[in-house]
Amino acid sequence: KVSIVWIRRDFRIQDNLALAAATENSDSVLLVFIVDPEQIETTASLNQSAFFASAKAFQANLANENIHLLVLKGTPESQFEKLTAALPEISDLYFNFDERGYGRQRDQQVAHHCQTTLGLKTHAYIDYNLHSANEIKKADGAGYQIFTPYFKRWITLPKPTPVKASVTSLQGKQMANIEPLHLHQEGLLTSLINEKHDKQLVGQVGEAKALQTLKDFIQSHLSEYDTQRDLPFLDATSHLSRYLRTGEIAIRTIYQAVINEPESEGQQTFIKELAWRDYYNMIYAMNPQQNTQSLRPEFQKIAWRNNHNDFLLWQTGQTGFPIVDAAMRQLNQTGWMHNRLRMIVASFLTKDLLIDWRWGEQYFHDQLLDYDPASNIGGWQWAASTGTDSVPYFRIFNPTRQSQKFDPDGKFIKQFVPELSQITNDKIHEPQLLTDLEQKEFQVTLDKDYPKPMVTHKQARLRAIEVYEQSKDTV
Ligand code: FAD
Repeated sequence: KVSIVWIRRDFRIQDNLALAAATENSDSVLLVFIVDPEQIETTASLNQSAFFASAKAFQANLANENIHLLVLKGTPESQFEKLTAALPEISDLYFNFDERGYGRQRDQQVAHHCQTTLGLKTHAYIDYNLHSANEIKKADGAGYQIFTPYFKRWITLPKPTPVKASVTSLQGKQMANIEPLHLHQEGLLTSLINEKHDKQLVGQVGEAKALQTLKDFIQSHLSEYDTQRDLPFLDATSHLSRYLRTGEIAIRTIYQAVINEPESEGQQTFIKELAWRDYYNMIYAMNPQQNTQSLRPEFQKIAWRNNHNDFLLWQTGQTGFPIVDAAMRQLNQTGWMHNRLRMIVASFLTKDLLIDWRWGEQYFHDQLLDYDPASNIGGWQWAASTGTDSVPYFRIFNPTRQSQKFDPDGKFIKQFVPELSQITNDKIHEPQLLTDLEQKEFQVTLDKDYPKPMVTHKQARLRAIEVYEQSKDTV
């Protein structure tokens, strides 16, 4: 049996369901990665550069083991046609299936084409989540809308364990016939990485790095995760999202490593976060329209203000709210943002500025190294109060209170807003209150070095509630 392993966003050798199954059940395997030009941005966003940098690292990692990754360009259907024409002995196709959004549709179409037109036997695996979107249902068979009951069920179910990869076996099953190599697009992956992102991506790619990140997190932060995860200045979360997104680490590997540790509140809280990931995957799979539509009907008619200049101030971290600005600058500089801050900036954009959550979602899409449509859309609809299980529309985050609570000494703010780094009192959270004397002392001139707040939160809050209630009244 000769099998193709279609690699997509599972850039790892270890604990890869499709790869392990193909290796075990085939006489020969051929690893293939396909770039569909229709999916490529003309100017690569950080998100895209990161994705192809990870693909490239995987290719290099395989090459070190003398395993070849064939890189092809075109639609998957056309490329599988070419491959099977060049190698008629190919009989099977293995891949890890996408459960939601565009990927799901594409996978169904490609599998159908390979089965009916090319006569391949297809084997699809749910590899990306601990529990698939269809696995956890209410007693009446309906999907859950709310996280808490979903989690109560989730936590009781046995979790899949990691699958071992046999590199030796994979090496032994490399195809001897290298004919399709003429289809290989040498240099394609490199050309899809925007040079200007190179610096940001250094040290953030590869399977080995992902495993090391897991190990470091367990050693340094896991047991305190419950108390430290909300404090951005401690930087005590795992940073694994970036590797999960590209499949440089498997979710089973993470779960197993964490559960093997001594029991702690930190461990339990961390595992709950993994359940949020499955939950949002399920919500997106059940509601494919959620990428463009607010899920709650009563909030589908919000009269967003959508002011372009306000949006620009938010994007560039110039709102005059230090915690919002520090967070946005962290995103722009590093391609990652702490979860507490994602909630704060998303609330600020949708409520204080009344800008459509889809604008923010798109901006995060372009900037985040860990961009995942289910979690991102889920997070944005949570903050905008438009999701199935979201913050009530009238409970609006006060950015200053959030700042005082989660960054009490302004350590995080000072890290990303150097203009405010000399401030030694509580006004780090509200620099607009600095007296002339303090401005001199702390070397910051308001409106020159750092802007005054672009809105008055108290008024913006009332405005948001009114606009949300108007939308409610239309239903
Ligand atoms: P840790 O705190 O170490 O958590 C461990 C893992 O649990 C994460 O890697 C992630 O896979 C999962 N997780 C944690 N929190 C959540 C959550 N709220 N929802 C779903 N999964 C979670 N996460 C993404 O992976 N991609 C996104 O594009 C994304 N966009 C978001 C947008 C908004 C507006 C909000 C509020 C949240 C978003 N999240 C997203 C969720 C969360 O912020 C990130 O997963 C987390 O900050 C990643 O850092 P970490 O790996 O250090 O997390």
